[in-house]
Amino acid sequence: MKLIRVGDAGNETPGVLLDDGRRVSTAAVLDAIGQRDYDEAFFGGDAIDAVASWFADGASGEELPADARLGSPVARPSKLICVGLNFRDHAAETGQAEPEEPILFGKATTALCGPDDDLVIPRGSTATDWEVELAVVIGHAARHVSMDDALGHVAGYALHNDYSERHHQMERGGQWIKGKSHDTFAPLGPFLATPDEVGGDAGDLAMWLTVNGETRQQSSTNQLIFGIAELVSHISDFMTLLPGDVISTGTPGGVGLSFDPPIYLKPGDVVELGIDGLGTSRQNVVAAS
Ligand code: ZN
Repeated sequence: MKLIRVGDAGNETPGVLLDDGRRVSTAAVLDAIGQRDYDEAFFGGDAIDAVASWFADGASGEELPADARLGSPVARPSKLICVGLNFRDHAAETGQAEPEEPILFGKATTALCGPDDDLVIPRGSTATDWEVELAVVIGHAARHVSMDDALGHVAGYALHNDYSERHHQMERGGQWIKGKSHDTFAPLGPFLATPDEVGGDAGDLAMWLTVNGETRQQSSTNQLIFGIAELVSHISDFMTLLPGDVISTGTPGGVGLSFDPPIYLKPGDVVELGIDGLGTSRQNVVAAS
């Protein structure tokens, strides 16, 4: 099942994407069980099961316009936690040792936006960069969960572009969160796929990113140093992961910073990305107004 949110920013309607491309509202299904959106309350209870059984019964309901904007498939969560240097090919390419335990950093949740929204280059930025990533959305709250139990706390997966302003990230006194948190720096979606759509742990999915049609990143989630169960378990030892929280699991080689000289984004560029089973997204790059 693929969960979507459709409509203007801040006023999205929850729905599902069918295999034939139709978008069907789940607003009535949610209303009947006292829910309103794909948020903490939704992911924390058994609401997703109610939607799944409605879906299995034919998913009849109001159709949403096919050309309307897609929002983030998750309403603003409590946390966006990211993982650094988590790809074998990326570590090898940069000559860095693989980390002994996951490197974590945060991204402001206000950076979240729709998958095809414009990427706004921050004021004064000269080093805005791309990072195709697999994002994990938490279902039931997780605190000190074991690796064996971790996947039971995953509601689903989504495509994410972890946009990064490298100067703000690395040359402004720390921490990385400064370069990761600008508005529009976290396009998520097009949809949240439940685990059955991607083989349970999303462990072998091709992923790619192009800039102006030129391939920049091409890898697979099979290159993850720390897999999904290990990440959820590890992070839950340091904080409570609430329902709807997003973990972005790291990017493969081919980011702009890795070129010599680096290649950074400028207004007019077009960034496209995808992960097998999780759809594609596209961001037009624009200057800050
Ligand atoms: Zn990243």
